[in-house]
Amino acid sequence: MAKVKAQLPVEKNQYVELDITGQGHEGEGVGRYQDYTLFVPGAIRGERIRAKVTKVNKNYGFARLVEVLQASEFRAEPPCPIYHRCGGCNLQHMTYEGQLAHKRQLVVDALARIGKLEDVEVLPVLGMDEPWKYRNKSQVPVGLVNGKVVAGFYAPRTHEIIDMEGCLIQHPYSDEIVGKVKRALVDLGIPVYDEVSHQGLVRHIVARVGYHTGETMVVLVTNGRKIPRVEELVSRLRMEIGHLVSIIQNVNTAVTNVIFGPDTYTLWGKDRIEDRIGDVRFSISARSFFQVNPVQTEVLYGKALEYAQLTGKETVIDAYCGIGTISLFLARKAKHVVGVEVVEAAIEDAKRNAELNGIENVGFLEGEAEKVIPRLYEERGLRADVVVVDPPRKGCDEALLSTIVDMRPERVVYVSCNPSTLARDLRFLEDRGYKTQEVQPVDMFPHTYHVECVTLLTLK
Ligand code: SAH
Repeated sequence: MAKVKAQLPVEKNQYVELDITGQGHEGEGVGRYQDYTLFVPGAIRGERIRAKVTKVNKNYGFARLVEVLQASEFRAEPPCPIYHRCGGCNLQHMTYEGQLAHKRQLVVDALARIGKLEDVEVLPVLGMDEPWKYRNKSQVPVGLVNGKVVAGFYAPRTHEIIDMEGCLIQHPYSDEIVGKVKRALVDLGIPVYDEVSHQGLVRHIVARVGYHTGETMVVLVTNGRKIPRVEELVSRLRMEIGHLVSIIQNVNTAVTNVIFGPDTYTLWGKDRIEDRIGDVRFSISARSFFQVNPVQTEVLYGKALEYAQLTGKETVIDAYCGIGTISLFLARKAKHVVGVEVVEAAIEDAKRNAELNGIENVGFLEGEAEKVIPRLYEERGLRADVVVVDPPRKGCDEALLSTIVDMRPERVVYVSCNPSTLARDLRFLEDRGYKTQEVQPVDMFPHTYHVECVTLLTLK
């Protein structure tokens, strides 16, 4: 077939007027110009805008918002002064109500388009009463810009550090820690890292906050073990930051984007902080995974618990269990819970957390869920009344879903951070005997594009 070079209706740098008719999964507005799709970051569904075309691909292009001709009722002035330069938030140009409506729509669209599930009820998103200052962990790169020490966030799609005084979605304690560490590094002349030359010392400041306990930890990620004037640094931070209970050093000498290196040392205080979700206590080390929004985690897992409908007699499998957050939540109401997780350190944390809470009817197994659970089923005849899955963005492996289908638990509770793979996996289960009863999105990450859902499926 001869290739005909299609004539596109727009070219780069052209100004266009557009109706925004959709919104992409990163929050960008989507419009059509003479049937050609343009993505316009910062534009909102329902708006009429003027934009300048910045990139033209064969099937779609990108444009920069120049003027809002007719604003959406959901348009808001972004409260953060560096919103347009920082890559952290994506939806501050929308009211919170608008963000929640947008997130629900993303789920509805994914279920219909990918899962062919037009009739499933998607409940209104459970948002936060106070959707700011919710994050309990901040990981801030440090560097030099024009000779000045900066600590902040990377600009979108670059490694240019945007210096920042405070972040509207971080816990105030984290801002305080980052600010005071930065000043101490300057005053004590402790060198900061330069990513280009791989020279210098301090690469990242990581602050962790126990939301309910008020305990905080700071981790200095360094390009080498020796920190000059380290005693002065430690005593100054102890004196200046009242809530600090732990000062940690992590050494990362590799040329890499990965934040942490292999070796961790306690410079002062405890090596862990504590927090709670509901009434379950968690012990958190420098490297531990822990949900970043503890308030909404309680809402999400409360919903998962409700969907599990436990009476105390059930055997429950919690696949992709991480540090056992859901497992421990469920264990209180179930006969027995088995958690499966691939990261060894997370399994260690999970066991430690079970012990910390005196929860004994739970076991944790290390390995890939799609290998461990089929093996338990086939070789040891394990059955579950309820299976909970909380997979990473790529969703569940088919081998796991097939085993669930063979095992025939009464209920499957699917916690998902990606509506597309959720929709795909729901379709798989729908075709094999399960019915999707209800999808409850929960806003775990206000002002960012992330959408989290918990879904109940029952055996048909
Ligand atoms: N429910 C957990 C977090 C789940 S996040 C909590 O609240 O703590 C997804 C988890 O899946 C991560 O911990 C990740 O390490 C794990 N994971 C990724 N691939 C996996 C696999 N194939 N098998 C088991 N666990 C996996």
